[in-house]
Amino acid sequence: TSYPSIVGEMLASGFGVIGFSWICSPACTELEVVVMDWLAKFLKLPAHFQHASDGPGGGVIQGSASEAVLVAVLAAREQAVASYRESHPELSESEVRGRLVAYSSDQSNSCIEKAGVLAAMPIRLLPAGEDFVLRGDTLRGAIEEDVAAGRIPVICVATLGTTGTCAYDDIESLSAVCDEFKVWLHVDAAYAGGAFALEECSDLRKGLDRVDSLNFNLHKFMLVNFDCSAMWLRDANKVVDSFNVDRIYLKHKHEGQSQIPDFRHWQIPLGRRFRALKVWITFRTLGAEGLRNHVRKHIELAKQFEQLVLKDSRFELVAPRALGLVCFRPKGDNEITTQLLQRL
Ligand code: PLP
Repeated sequence: TSYPSIVGEMLASGFGVIGFSWICSPACTELEVVVMDWLAKFLKLPAHFQHASDGPGGGVIQGSASEAVLVAVLAAREQAVASYRESHPELSESEVRGRLVAYSSDQSNSCIEKAGVLAAMPIRLLPAGEDFVLRGDTLRGAIEEDVAAGRIPVICVATLGTTGTCAYDDIESLSAVCDEFKVWLHVDAAYAGGAFALEECSDLRKGLDRVDSLNFNLHKFMLVNFDCSAMWLRDANKVVDSFNVDRIYLKHKHEGQSQIPDFRHWQIPLGRRFRALKVWITFRTLGAEGLRNHVRKHIELAKQFEQLVLKDSRFELVAPRALGLVCFRPKGDNEITTQLLQRL
């Protein structure tokens, strides 16, 4: 976290905005549109993720990566049900829903499995390679097996920066398979997403032009205090159409105008906090270069720590260092690792 972000948080608490629609607080909505486009540029994401682009893409601030993943899973599910029912009118809605299946890797965060539980859709956790990376050929094998058994593939949630070792799934090969089978591809970059901003980490962004949605936590690597999880959609209409529930008291005369989204349609809750304020103040105070330097500093610290581990005969690395994460353990019995962890 950082001092500017905490000031933003205090101001947002003081204003007490509950900005579910543009009309509730134009500033809350419009500043979010502005900072999400700033962030998309800062992270060098494909231009179609910006609100300012001509297409239906855009970004929204969710509370957590778990919420972002759940939104993607639910939207993908509703899209799949609608399109499958169109092509198979002989099947009832419940028959279609009973056949849905989703995919992720066995290295992905627990929130992905949880999203499957909440969405009432099995998520197959496919085996990652020995390098902890999920690749397209593994996904293809699973999808072909499921299609042959009459199941309907819905979404694959890939990870850039897994929780265990900060491994990066192979987005390029996964996106080729997802394109072929019309499967939604979501990327969970909760931790590693901050490094997209660094030119020296540009490899991490490979394939992002072909994903349907992605999320990254500003409360992990970007000096913004919890809670603040950025999510981008290539086609926000797919989420809005899936979640649109209206009541007379929610209507206002500016609904549906471009550049003034009602973010209540992009998220699980109705009410929403003015989170964009803490992002805006953090960026304006520390600057893009200040934030990039912060990420670089953490990577440098990890490199130093890695050297210390390598020089110490009592310890060993268990995975390659990635960004600010060094996975190491004392050599020998696992019990020693458990004891060290408890002491730490
Ligand atoms: N995804 C990854 C890769 C993570 O490392 C984590 C948390 O550590 C999460 C998702 C969950 O994040 P949140 O607490 O914002 O739901």
